Amino acid sequence: MYRALFQTGKRSTSRLTAAASSPHAKHFSSQSHLLTNYGFVGLGQMGQHMARHIYEQLAPEDSLYVYDTVPEAAANFYHTVTSQTPQHQEQLTVLPDLKSFITGVNGQLDFIVTMVPEGKHVKGVVEEIVTAYEQNGYSPEYRTTIIDSSTIDIPTSQAVHHYVKSTLPQFDFIDAPVSGGVAGARKGTLSFMLSRENHEDISPDLVTLLNKMGKNIFPCGVNHGTGLAAKLANNYLLAITNLATADSFQLAKAFGLNLQNYAKLVAVSTGKSWASVDNCPIEGVYPENNLPADVKFKGGFITKLTRKDVVLATDCAKQQHRFLFLGDIGRHWYDKACERPDVAERDLGVLYEWLGDLEQKPNGDIVDVKRTSA
Ligand code: NAD
Repeated sequence: MYRALFQTGKRSTSRLTAAASSPHAKHFSSQSHLLTNYGFVGLGQMGQHMARHIYEQLAPEDSLYVYDTVPEAAANFYHTVTSQTPQHQEQLTVLPDLKSFITGVNGQLDFIVTMVPEGKHVKGVVEEIVTAYEQNGYSPEYRTTIIDSSTIDIPTSQAVHHYVKSTLPQFDFIDAPVSGGVAGARKGTLSFMLSRENHEDISPDLVTLLNKMGKNIFPCGVNHGTGLAAKLANNYLLAITNLATADSFQLAKAFGLNLQNYAKLVAVSTGKSWASVDNCPIEGVYPENNLPADVKFKGGFITKLTRKDVVLATDCAKQQHRFLFLGDIGRHWYDKACERPDVAERDLGVLYEWLGDLEQKPNGDIVDVKRTSA
């Protein structure tokens, strides 16, 4: 049975006895070590690994509190990490709901990381947490920083930021989206994109936390939302180069070229990109890398998520009145690709294979030979 708090208002005092007298105050151990309380919301494909890295690197007096709307996700997380690293078991608590981040913890949290699917989930999570702080009290001199690493639309993130700062001014809500995918999350090599002007503007405690989960921190600008702006601009580039890669390799195929040789040529030529080389869609070119193309495009960064990022990027571009050469057409093809579940659920490199299923008729119509129309 995993350690969980299911009683509203119950506060564990087994480990941090100092918490009993002042439950929302910052705590110091007898060695004057600053304790850090971490919260993590969303233990899905990415979050389970990010939270695992925090758990594995907990200092002796630190705590980690986790929550997911799907109880099995939290239970699986608990069982996985505590069986791999049992020595931190007492420092990990699965919470039954969001208000328990205030009522069910041993002292106010320093950081709460959110890693949930969309803007509406981030908004809901933050509103519930902030409301619980308002209703249950908090230490006015003490900050809690919410780090949102989800990929969401910029206006929602800005609205949530405004809400937090206007409701609890000493709290913070920072957009810190990531790149590196599930593999990067698993290995702890993610890159974080942060709304901060430069590295000096990022607190040492936050750097410590991000370094547990990743390898690079990129300050992207002083205004809230610049981290997401960088993430969306990059993922738009990825999505578009992925379409061009599919086009290029299908064209080479139509010309009768040896595709493995062509892939090696591209890797040292002007057509090289992450999509054409690091995620090369041709099977067997880099067998040592076990690329999605070598496992029938299973796993990886799935097309459905790429589409989500293209939609976010093109919507945000429209809000900025920024016309994009390939915005609408790129979005059109990702929309079409996601109409086929076998494409939507596989790595984005599968678009090369899918393009092979598309034929243009003399009247200009494009037909998916594995469906009735595209
Ligand atoms: P996922 O769907 O696997 O995981 C999301 C988790 O959040 C699920 O376990 C879900 O139950 C939980 N959740 C949803 N609503 C919640 C709520 N209100 N409270 C608590 N938990 C809630 O998604 P993922 O692949 O882990 O991606 C998470 C975010 O990271 C997305 O915004 C995604 O775009 C972004 N992202 C994903 C990747 C990737 O390769 N998968 C890479 C970079 C960024």
